[in-house]
Amino acid sequence: MWPKIIPNYSPNFSIKKRTKKKVRFIIIHYTGMKNELSAVNRLCSEKSKVSAHYFIKRDGIILNLVPDLYEAWHAGKSGWKNITSLNQFSIGIEIQNPGHGKNYKKFTSKQIISLKGLLKSLILKYKVNYRNILGHSDIAPDRKKDPGEKFPWKELAKFKLALWYKLDKKKLTKNRLIGLNLIEQNIFLKNLNKIGYQKFKIKNSPNKNKYLIKAFQRRFRQSLVNGVSDKECLMISKNLIKS
Ligand SMILES: [Zn+2]
Repeated sequence: MWPKIIPNYSPNFSIKKRTKKKVRFIIIHYTGMKNELSAVNRLCSEKSKVSAHYFIKRDGIILNLVPDLYEAWHAGKSGWKNITSLNQFSIGIEIQNPGHGKNYKKFTSKQIISLKGLLKSLILKYKVNYRNILGHSDIAPDRKKDPGEKFPWKELAKFKLALWYKLDKKKLTKNRLIGLNLIEQNIFLKNLNKIGYQKFKIKNSPNKNKYLIKAFQRRFRQSLVNGVSDKECLMISKNLIKS
């Protein structure tokens, strides 16, 4: 059953209509706002210059803020594989959650049920590849943490609504915190690029790889997000490239 969607339009979108074909990605966010009212107000205020196509409340109700074929302003400076500025090519979904540093919460099961229905209908409508369903932190790792390590990517993957790996959990945990040599570290970073994470553009930042590794961990190794690559991360990355 498709979820019920209530229109609640935001003025923050680009006037030029796009074709259906342009929609190739779906980007998932949390609002990072204390409550729903302030989140919706911000996404619909002309001053804020931010928006998304959909907003999912804690009770699972979905608001449609921007029609699909207009570009909403949700991704900002972003990149994935050889593509930059993902707004043009994506649909943005904001899920209510106060976010890191503001009482980051578990997403509600009603939110996830609604999200699954919405993703299924969007995939069908625009023929979006499930590999192109991404988190904001995947496409802007230096700036963003959302939707974060509490977001159930593995659960979505069960329904082919996101990419996941096939590896034995016990075997993986045994390899946790086992360090990588320089060659392995490089292989891991190359794997990240193959998955889609863009190489970091700021040359002299000592933390440039840390951001990338954290983004990867928020998505694929959620129980330990420490910004340090280890054997477990390497194994996951290898498997993701193959799957
Ligand atoms: Zn975001």
